[in-house]
Amino acid sequence: MARAFAKAFYNSSVWKEVRESILKRDSYMCQMAGCHNPAEEVHHKKELTPDNINDTSITVNPDNLISLCGKCHKIITARNKREQGTEDILPVVVFDESGYPVIADSPLGYTN
Ligand SMILES: [Zn+2]
Repeated sequence: MARAFAKAFYNSSVWKEVRESILKRDSYMCQMAGCHNPAEEVHHKKELTPDNINDTSITVNPDNLISLCGKCHKIITARNKREQGTEDILPVVVFDESGYPVIADSPLGYTN
């Protein structure tokens, strides 16, 4: 769910157009390494904040946007909350026994 400060942005026609163009660029597929689900969401790699919400080099910059499926988006959002850091490199995703994608600490490891 979008936070209050970002609500107007996410409702804007500019965002809707950019979002569609990113999904198209990414062939409507989740871009997480190892994940082959259809993309459902467009994620800001550098998180939107009240300070950058009017900065178009962040909000609508294609380099800062990536298509993800709902599961990967949840994982990345949870991880960002934990680390409160910037996310320059997308993590590698692996699948656990039940087929649920999880982020690998290294390309060969599991996080849990
Ligand atoms: Zn995915």
